[in-house]
Amino acid sequence: MMSVTRYGRKMRKTPKNERARAKDRAWQWFSKWVRLRDCLLTMRDMEFGKCVTCGRVVHGGEADAGHFVAGRRDAYLLDPRGCHLQCKRCNQHMDGYFVEYEEVLMRRYGPAVVAELKELRHNPLKKSAEDWRELAELFRIKYNNLKETGHVPMEDRYDV
Ligand SMILES: [Zn+2]
Repeated sequence: MMSVTRYGRKMRKTPKNERARAKDRAWQWFSKWVRLRDCLLTMRDMEFGKCVTCGRVVHGGEADAGHFVAGRRDAYLLDPRGCHLQCKRCNQHMDGYFVEYEEVLMRRYGPAVVAELKELRHNPLKKSAEDWRELAELFRIKYNNLKETGHVPMEDRYDV
């Protein structure tokens, strides 16, 4: 996108806002997909699922998709292994539930994946607006498939 400054010099506009918008949109679809995946895997239900850290049964639409690793770094924001259905109470007191979260991920994915997820904390990778747009589309399609079929594909499953 080109614009002319008041000095008449052509400058490339920063794509920052566009990237932020695309990232947010990707996050919205991913979050919906995570919550429905976990309702289906933990309760075999389209609406209700178990909170990853306290095990309470919550409505997917009223719960969060909570990260194992805090923050919103590009490298792990949309990692399906590091984000799960979580009640708001647990998500807002993340520090207190880190141990529980880790135990669950150890069972679901094993120590290698847990170590990998922890390493992502330090990964400075940046995704472009185009990357986020592709991810938004990917998770939009995955979400719609889940909603239509109620079936979680093999590659997205974990042992509950
Ligand atoms: Zn909880």
